[in-house]
Amino acid sequence: MERDPFTAALHADEHLSELPDVAPALRPSTTYRYDPDGRVYRREGDETTERLEAVLGALDEGHAVVYPSGMAAVAGVLRHIRPARISLPDDVYHGTKVFVESEAEKGMWAIVPPDQLRAGDVRWVETPSNPLCLLTDLADVAARSKQDGIMTVADATFATPVLQRTLSFGIDFVVHASTKFIAGHSDAMGGVAVSLSADEAAALRANRQADGAVPGTFESWLTLRGVRTLPLRVERQSATAMEIAQFLFDNQIAVWYPGLSSHPGHEVAARQMSAFGGIVSFQLGSELEAAKVVDRLRVFVNATSLGGVESLAELRVRSDPHVNPGLIRLSVGLESASALKNDLAQALGLDL
Ligand code: PLP
Repeated sequence: MERDPFTAALHADEHLSELPDVAPALRPSTTYRYDPDGRVYRREGDETTERLEAVLGALDEGHAVVYPSGMAAVAGVLRHIRPARISLPDDVYHGTKVFVESEAEKGMWAIVPPDQLRAGDVRWVETPSNPLCLLTDLADVAARSKQDGIMTVADATFATPVLQRTLSFGIDFVVHASTKFIAGHSDAMGGVAVSLSADEAAALRANRQADGAVPGTFESWLTLRGVRTLPLRVERQSATAMEIAQFLFDNQIAVWYPGLSSHPGHEVAARQMSAFGGIVSFQLGSELEAAKVVDRLRVFVNATSLGGVESLAELRVRSDPHVNPGLIRLSVGLESASALKNDLAQALGLDL
């Protein structure tokens, strides 16, 4: 059957509804009256979280396990695999780098370049990457890793399950910070790991029950509500981001957006994504100049994070000390493209 994220986002969970309600019920109970065939205790599962997993599994065409944050999903997958060695890309979400490095310092694993990985190790990729939107060719990395028995994990937070069918390229696990585009309203933290293998997902779920990293019912409910409109949101966010990237490019600003043919990953992105996503980064001459621009923006909110309905602009060095200090990361929301371009034009002193 043809993949249909619009319908899956709305209906993939309805067979799990325990009530006749059309909208999912919010049921905060942590325990259930004893029934030998029924639910026992919240940490073992609840209807809302299982419904969210059904939708996210359908969107990513695998078996999904949800977590209380994106980082909890990252940690859940890596602690499950327990590789001896792990490689990270050059441009990767700062929090992932911090986690992998701090565990390496405790002797959990060694961080090595990709060509030093052996069977059972993990090649971590993030595509498009945070913050430069660099691309990894997923089919190529998955095929080469498989030959050597290396596990691949891809963080596809920027791509979302709608714009990139990550597991279809042969990747072993895909993770997303659902805090971002999936929940989409800057009001619910969460993460998800998805595998083609039901056994791997069951193992992740068993670990989650044992170590207690279960999402709250309210967060699962908000995320389930948010994901219903994910396909619609990312379509519009991608279209607006393309206009903004083109506007910056036309004004001779150094801009990173995979939809621009000048971007180093454009060709790979065009092959493995159905649209280029809602994140645009651009670089000014200095931190001071970039800080002033971020300050002058009126529609974009000066804040970290991404993927919500409201557009955000961040002087990225405030969150990630490894980036060029003049780098501004934009998360494009649902405002009109003209309002966002006008805002950037006035902040940068450009004509539209
Ligand atoms: N992965 C990527 C690419 C991210 O951008 C983030 C957060 O910004 C995370 C993972 C971590 O997600 P969370 O903040 O929900 O723990």
